[in-house]
Amino acid sequence: MSFKEIYTKYDWDEIKTEIYMKDGSHVEAALSKTGARSMEDLMALLSPAAAPFLEQMANLSHELTQKRFGKTLQMYIPLYLSNKCSNNCLYCGFRNKNRIKRITLTMDQIIEEVKVIKSYGFDHILLVTGESRESAGVEYFEEVLRLIRPYFSNISMEVQPMEQEDYERLIKLGLNTVLVYQETYGKKYHEFHPVGMKSDFFYRLDTPDRIGSAGIHKIGLGALLGLDDWRTDSWFTGLHLNYLKKRYWRTRFSVSFPRLRPATGVIEPKVVVTDRDLAQMICAYRIFDENLELSISTRESVRFRDNAIKIGITSISAGSKTEPGGYTADTGELEQFEINDSRTPEEIACMISSKGYEPVWKDWDIHYGI
Ligand code: SF4
Repeated sequence: MSFKEIYTKYDWDEIKTEIYMKDGSHVEAALSKTGARSMEDLMALLSPAAAPFLEQMANLSHELTQKRFGKTLQMYIPLYLSNKCSNNCLYCGFRNKNRIKRITLTMDQIIEEVKVIKSYGFDHILLVTGESRESAGVEYFEEVLRLIRPYFSNISMEVQPMEQEDYERLIKLGLNTVLVYQETYGKKYHEFHPVGMKSDFFYRLDTPDRIGSAGIHKIGLGALLGLDDWRTDSWFTGLHLNYLKKRYWRTRFSVSFPRLRPATGVIEPKVVVTDRDLAQMICAYRIFDENLELSISTRESVRFRDNAIKIGITSISAGSKTEPGGYTADTGELEQFEINDSRTPEEIACMISSKGYEPVWKDWDIHYGI
């Protein structure tokens, strides 16, 4: 059964109601279990009824994270290659209706950016683009991967959804991870994604399947927090994750928690997600799945990020610029969203060490034949 078939069996409003009807006894039952938690347990952990249990959830989440991942944190940095985009997502600074200068980096410009990124010490890189097949299609990505492969042992991508054959071509050139966020699993999806490829909800929903079928090492999922009810979106993300884990059992998975941030010409968040909500979400996912990698970006504040690493986060970005060419030139007006933690990678690494954790710049290499 495909995920589309599973997904269409559920009704957003009914799931939301069920989540809001959970009470303390359901939360206690989910917390007292050992091992894998069910989708019912995830409902309880995400529910308003779990809020008074946050300290208990944080302690358990911390314990489970340390057991599985030790006192380590993966460091990564995004490299924005292009801000050209054929979509008009209402929350994004790169949307095609925004009158900003559009750039797709040339190979020479990419190498200049890579030199700066390498000088910070990074060995993991996340390539990011808007969704424009004309300026950044699979041939462009092949060229980029050939160019940067000698510099990085781990290359991730957050670009437009592609076909399975495209992913297969890129995996051969060293692509390790693909992140594809559904943004929201609810009916409001169409309101926020009115035109372009991204308006096709089910093509996007099927993307992790195409990535998994291509044989990728890791898939990243997530919902954009601020578009609709975060508890319901998180539950559907968990449902998607459970399906993918069973089907692509050799693949690793991660979940990210992007909260809507200000940017030029975009809508305000429709739903406020507080720091306490976000902390509950992180703990809920960790208790739901001990092996899941949980990632947090520079969208979040210094204070939140410093505390989040103690409750379950396993991967953190640092020194990020969200505009193409941002590491070699100050092009601020082109950025996708405003970052909230502008500390240097060195400062982030020092903060991690000061908390007794080890910042990991490299943990995996394709040359080991894994
Ligand atoms: S979120 Fe992605 S697809 Fe949507 S407008 Fe921004 S860059 Fe384009």
